[in-house]
Amino acid sequence: MHILTACNLSCRHCYINKKQHGKNQLSKQQITDWLKLFSDSRKTSNLILLGGEPTLHPELNTTIIVAKEMGYRVTVDSNGYLFHNLLEKVSPAQLDCLSFSLDGPDPAVNDPIRGEGVFDVCTNNIRRALNKGFSVSVIYTVSRKNISHLHRMGDLLSFLGVRKFFIQVLGLRGNSAQTDSEETSQVSRQEWLDTVPAVAAKIAQRGIHITYPKVFLEENESFECAGNVAENYFIFPNGRVYQCPLCEDYPLHSYEIREGQLKKNEGLCEDSLFKLDIAEGCVMNKLLQPDIIEYNSMGKPRYKISCCLLKQEIG
Ligand code: SF4
Ligand code: SF4
Repeated sequence: MHILTACNLSCRHCYINKKQHGKNQLSKQQITDWLKLFSDSRKTSNLILLGGEPTLHPELNTTIIVAKEMGYRVTVDSNGYLFHNLLEKVSPAQLDCLSFSLDGPDPAVNDPIRGEGVFDVCTNNIRRALNKGFSVSVIYTVSRKNISHLHRMGDLLSFLGVRKFFIQVLGLRGNSAQTDSEETSQVSRQEWLDTVPAVAAKIAQRGIHITYPKVFLEENESFECAGNVAENYFIFPNGRVYQCPLCEDYPLHSYEIREGQLKKNEGLCEDSLFKLDIAEGCVMNKLLQPDIIEYNSMGKPRYKISCCLLKQEIG
């Protein structure tokens, strides 16, 4: 749930698109009411509180407590600035995970992507959070700019004492869909396959739990669209509710929160696309990023693109 879209940073690859996602900040009452729409006492649901920068919201701490009382397993994804003294206002028992975004193992790699001085602020707050006993993870978004530095993250994570690491593929959304630079460009299939699985395995040997997207399916692996087989909702402050993150730059959302109710949208929505069965696998990838698919001389795709929500976990 994106509780606001404002942010103190201007990352080169920022995926927030205010035209599509709104500029408003949800009130505590709205957040509580919206969370009730998705809570189910028979299940444990993961709630990730996002922005923009979610710690800019003055009531994030009370939101975390309310969500926990509703039974959610709560994570906050922060750029590391931790505004409004978050670490003093919630306890490690109330917040299941605090995730920090870092896109490089040192300021020389991270800061050209995320902003001057960001590496130092973020790593200092990671240390503070760990010292206070919070469960901490780090998220690294792989682009052409930083893929060659991914292997150095193992040393940094061990030095800091972080035990959970998420590697993300850069999504062609927001700034990345509009600008052309190393920081906003995806790596090729070969670069991804040559680097990410091996680096992840090596970092996992340090006792660090790694999660990274599958991206490309092997011949013997079958394709499934999370929109058909899982329950994921990406909620924005303008009330749009998507099931697929790749659709977030377009008004294709399956649901919308209107007057406090979750309403199903009719007409051409993302869920019409989930039903299409194509040889390339993910329909949205085929529409938005056709360049990453290779074809043989018969015009058949050499591999399928997996759902972006399909993750591998090791360690
Ligand atoms: S990617 Fe996140 S931290 Fe960076 S500018 Fe966008 S919302 Fe802020
Ligand atoms: S990324 Fe592709 S496969 Fe996954 S939910 Fe979206 S359309 Fe479906």
